[in-house]
Amino acid sequence: MRLVLFGAPGVGKGTYANLLSAKYGIPHVSTGEIIRDEVERQSPLGLAVAELMARGHLVSDDIAVALVKERFKRGDCAKGFVLDGFPRTVPQARAFDEFLSEHHWKVDFVANIRVNNSEIVDRISKRYTCRKCHAIYNTEYAPPRREGFCDNCGGPLYKRSDEDEHAVRTRLNVYMHETAPVLDYYKTQGVVLDMDGTGKGVEDNFSSLLKLIQSHHEGQKKLTNGNGNNSPL
Ligand code: AMP
Repeated sequence: MRLVLFGAPGVGKGTYANLLSAKYGIPHVSTGEIIRDEVERQSPLGLAVAELMARGHLVSDDIAVALVKERFKRGDCAKGFVLDGFPRTVPQARAFDEFLSEHHWKVDFVANIRVNNSEIVDRISKRYTCRKCHAIYNTEYAPPRREGFCDNCGGPLYKRSDEDEHAVRTRLNVYMHETAPVLDYYKTQGVVLDMDGTGKGVEDNFSSLLKLIQSHHEGQKKLTNGNGNNSPL
């Protein structure tokens, strides 16, 4: 299963990617997390992009693509992966397709999660992330059992530097102009699955997402007489 979770900031990509990763035993690859780690370690790359990121702008395509290729060198993505936050521009999507085709792979599905902007701004204002394991919480929809600490690992929860109102508006604007066109790119490949991610809460939304993926996966398997494009599922 080679999945891309797609959608504006705050629609729940990270949360669903964590759940899909656990369900299918495939790695969750988040370029945002990779870049935040670089920033935290104060690596040369981290120092170079920290301000850009905090203001809600994208890092360059070359950097994003190089980070993903580097991450794939670990080898665990051979059995499948769930990508969150990448590709974020059409040039990134093209470069990623080229990279995948070198392995005779392709993206199976792009799950496009739709949530309206006012709900996004509200969700992000209530969102906290675990500094240790990167689990995501929302004080209203998915609160931690103990305030300020992660249920999974006990790590401290923090607010990301790009989650103030100004940065969130910039990120939504960047999404509309630079990232949304990626959807048209994938639509031409017939791999886009649309999902309404509004309101219903994490469990219900995740169960809709699973149903959507599984029904299309079944459809794909029938089309390929069960050979399913080397898919491990
Ligand atoms: P995310 O955690 O996916 O919301 O990403 C947080 C920030 O990391 C973004 O606002 C960008 O500054 C940077 N970033 C993450 N992924 C990419 C990407 N594919 N291309 C460019 N910048 C990215």
